Amino acid sequence: MKWTKTLIQTLRENPGDAEIDSHKLLIRAGLARKVAGGLYAYLPLGMRSLKKIQQIVREEMDRAGAQEIVSPILQPAELWRTTGRWDTMGPNMFKLRDRGEHEFALGPTAEEVFTDLAKGMISSYRQLPVTIYQIQWKFRDETRPRFGLMRSKEFLMKDAYSFDVDAEGADKSYWTMYRAYERIFARCGLKAVPVQADGGDMGDSLTHEFHVLADAGEDGIAFCEGCGYAANLEKAERKVGNGEWGMGNGEAVEEIPTPNAKTIEEVAAFMGLSPDAFVKSLVYLADGKPVMVCVPGDRDVNDVKLKHFLGAKAVALADFGTVLAATGANAGFVGPVRPADASLRIVADVSLKGASGRIVGANKDDFHLKNVDLARDAKIADADYADLTTVKAGDACPHCGRPMVIKRGIEVGQVFKLGTKYSAAFNATYKNDKLEEHIMIMGCYGVGVSRTLQAVIEQSHDKDGIVWPASVAPYQVCICLLDPADAGVAKVAEDLEAALEAQGVDVIVDDRAERPGVKFKDADLIGFPVRVVVGAKGLANGGVEVKRRSEDKSATRIVAPADAAQAVADLLKEDAGA
Ligand SMILES: [Zn+2]
Repeated sequence: MKWTKTLIQTLRENPGDAEIDSHKLLIRAGLARKVAGGLYAYLPLGMRSLKKIQQIVREEMDRAGAQEIVSPILQPAELWRTTGRWDTMGPNMFKLRDRGEHEFALGPTAEEVFTDLAKGMISSYRQLPVTIYQIQWKFRDETRPRFGLMRSKEFLMKDAYSFDVDAEGADKSYWTMYRAYERIFARCGLKAVPVQADGGDMGDSLTHEFHVLADAGEDGIAFCEGCGYAANLEKAERKVGNGEWGMGNGEAVEEIPTPNAKTIEEVAAFMGLSPDAFVKSLVYLADGKPVMVCVPGDRDVNDVKLKHFLGAKAVALADFGTVLAATGANAGFVGPVRPADASLRIVADVSLKGASGRIVGANKDDFHLKNVDLARDAKIADADYADLTTVKAGDACPHCGRPMVIKRGIEVGQVFKLGTKYSAAFNATYKNDKLEEHIMIMGCYGVGVSRTLQAVIEQSHDKDGIVWPASVAPYQVCICLLDPADAGVAKVAEDLEAALEAQGVDVIVDDRAERPGVKFKDADLIGFPVRVVVGAKGLANGGVEVKRRSEDKSATRIVAPADAAQAVADLLKEDAGA
C-alpha cells in the first residue's frame, strides 16, 4: 500500500481533552478522530488494528468451540423488563421509542437477548452445552466520557454466553473461556493479568477480570507477590491480625470536647493521636434505611462490600438531616455509643471486633468519647461485624499473610458465572434424559475490543509514539522511500513491498515527497514494528536499513536489497515467537 493513496493524517499537537498517553497517541497517530464527546470515528489505520484484534478474538472463540452470531443493537424493552433490568440499569442505558411508541434500548450488553434466543432454540440436554458470541457495538450513556476509547459512549465488545445443563458443565465452560482469554490477550501482545472481581448481585459470584497493568488504569488491584493472589479493590480481602487494635484497660468512657474538629485527622491532631486510634463512624442509607457503619479511623468504607453485606440494592452516605435524626449530632461527631435513635442498626468492620480503648464521636456536636470498648459500650450484633473496608498497600494477603501491593489496571475482559439469574427469569429450560425440565446454567464473557486497541497503546509506547506488537499493528512494516522521484530507488522499494506481501506481511510504502525527518517521525509516531529505509545514498553504500521500532538507531542493519524481505520476515518471526 502506498502512503499517498491512503487517508493518513498525523497531528503535531495533543488533543486538548486527552489526559493519558494512549488517548493522545490514538488521535495524534491518526488512528481515530473524535466526532463528539465519547464518540469516535475509526480511521483507516485504527480500523486495520481493530479488525486484527477482532480476528484474534474470533479465532480464539471459535477454537474454544463458541459459535458466532450477531444480534440487534436495538433491543426491545420487553426483554429487559423480563429481568427487571429495564428499571435497574439506570441512566447509563440509552432508551428510545420507535414511531409506534414502542420502547427500545441501545444494548449496553445482551444477556436478555441471548437468553431469549436460547430459550427459543434449545429444548433438550442433547443440544447442550453451547456457547454463542457476537462482536457488536454497545452503548453506555457515560456521565463523563473520558480517556478516549477507554470510557466512551459507543464501544465494540465481544460478548459470549454459555448454556449448560449443570454447575459442573458451567464450570467447564467458564474455564474454557478463561483460557481463551489468556490466549487472546497474549496474541494481542498484551500482558493481561486475571484478577478476582466482585460478582455483584448476579447469582454465583465467581468472576475474573483481565487487567492490563498501567498507571493510567482506572481500577485498583491488590496483588500478593508471595502467593499470586490478585483481586480488584472492590473485592480484595486482607488477613486481620489478632489484637490489631490495641486494647484499653477497662477505663470508663469519658467525654472530651473537640470543638470544630470534624475529621479524624483534625481530631487526631487536636488530641495528639494517630488516626488508627479512632473508630470512623458514617451513616449510610441502604435502600432508604439508615445504618451506621464503623471502620478503623485510617480506613475507608468499601461501598460494594457494604452493599452486599446489607443485601441492599443501593447504598449511599445519608443526608445531614438523616444523620442528625439518627444520631443526635452532625457528621464528624457521630459514633456507635448511644445514638439518638436507639434502634439504629450499627455494623462494623471485622477488624474492630474486640476493639477497646478507642475514640469515637459522642453523638453530640463538638464532643468525642474516649476509652470506648465496642463490646461493652456499643450495641453491635456479632453478626454485624464483617469485612467492610478497602484494602491498602502493605495489608496482609488473605492467603499467605505477606504484605500486598496495589497497582492500577485497565479492564479489558471479564469472565462471569451467572448461574440461573437470567435463565430463571426467562424460564429458559431444557429437558433431561428423563424428560424432566431444568433451568439452564449460564455464564457470560466479555472482551472490550475497542478498549483493547487503546490498552495496547497504553502498555506499549515511548516518548516518540506507539510501539505496536506486530500481531495488531496497522501495518507490520513501513518502507520509508527517501527518493520517490528516483525510478531506480522506487523500484527497489516496490520489489521489496511485493516480496513481503507475497509472504503475507502488511506493508506500507511512505512515498510522500517529504523530508526523511518527517517520514521517520511519522513512522515512529504510528509505531510500525519494522522500518526499512530505502534511499539513493544507502543503496550506493550497499543496501537498505532495517530496524525494529523498539530498537534504537544503533541496532540498524544494512541489508542488500535482495535479502531485505528475508531479513524483515525473520525479525517478524522472531517477535511472534517471543
Ligand atoms: Zn499471598
